[in-house]
Amino acid sequence: MQPLDTILKRLAQVDARPNAVVSLYLDARWNDEQQRERARLTLKRAVADAIQGLHSFPREVAESLERDLARAEEHAMSVIKQRRDVGFEGIAAFYCEAKGLDMIVLSHATMPTKLHVGPRPEIWPLARFANDFEIALVAVVETDETRIFEVALSGVLAEESVEADVPDRVQRGGWRQLRIQKHIADHILHHHQQAARELCARFDGISAGRGRAPRVVLGGREPMLASLERTLPERVLMRAIRSPKIDPKGSTSEVLEQVREILALAVRRTQSELIHLAKEAAAVGRGALGVAPVIQAANAGRLWQLVVDERFQKEGSRCTRCDLLFSQSFAESCPACAGSVEAVSLRDELTRRAVLVGADVYAVDDSGELANCEGVAATLKY
Ligand SMILES: [Zn+2]
Repeated sequence: MQPLDTILKRLAQVDARPNAVVSLYLDARWNDEQQRERARLTLKRAVADAIQGLHSFPREVAESLERDLARAEEHAMSVIKQRRDVGFEGIAAFYCEAKGLDMIVLSHATMPTKLHVGPRPEIWPLARFANDFEIALVAVVETDETRIFEVALSGVLAEESVEADVPDRVQRGGWRQLRIQKHIADHILHHHQQAARELCARFDGISAGRGRAPRVVLGGREPMLASLERTLPERVLMRAIRSPKIDPKGSTSEVLEQVREILALAVRRTQSELIHLAKEAAAVGRGALGVAPVIQAANAGRLWQLVVDERFQKEGSRCTRCDLLFSQSFAESCPACAGSVEAVSLRDELTRRAVLVGADVYAVDDSGELANCEGVAATLKY
């Protein structure tokens, strides 16, 4: 299992020009035959359209692209044909023979069903989950038992060049359960100290591995919850969401369902705070509101947290010589170096640049707060 950050960085670095990358996304949450049939038709049409478009490429490029499309179609159809549940809600695959790219990403996050052919992989549907809430540690405390889970909101698994079967060890819903129960029939305080040590070790392990501390959710009833908290170091508490509402007697799936709700709420609150923060920061030059300022920040490599409305669709241009991004989609040449330009989706390019500088990406559904900044805002580095 690779962290989502790593997968995205690898994809964001791919520029296949003059070749192209085939990006395939599949929403595999079908409940009935009709939904499966709809997915099949959507993809069949998309592949046919892409094949029609091949004539605009030089012959050699078109030929390798055709093989990439065939590979994408074959994978999608094999997944769709599976009668049984595929075990993952979202599937992404990226193919580019010319660049040696052949990657399948299995995920518990929701993906659209779509096919994209372009010089770079389309990473937005995956990047939406590359933020502060991607991984959380959960501890649910009781008198003599503390359950500790590691939870991935997107539950991403990537396998390169492998058509992997669904591994059994990943549970439905994206929860990876590292420890289920730790029984210590000992003094309560001693037990909580043990649990705290376990939690800290996990916390530091994830921090070191990802270069970013995980979120922490602490649940259970009082006074046990407070007792656990007293034994936790500041660095863990600072990342913790406290939730006495989690029923420590609940089953694993009940607890995880509650945790999922808590995290979803925390993501929404964070997005809302981020937008306010960006608005305040913009006044002192550390925030960007709207298309032009966000592009400018992206060009300077200053993105820190990028918030984009799901419906943001604007087009722009990118210089193929100096990589400058700008908002006019009809530009003939680069305003900075006069190099040749290509039309791009601004959402994809901003996302790619955010990923490359390690910025968090948030997708906002309800654009009320983003409405007066054209659907895009960011907080900035330095
Ligand atoms: Zn240029």
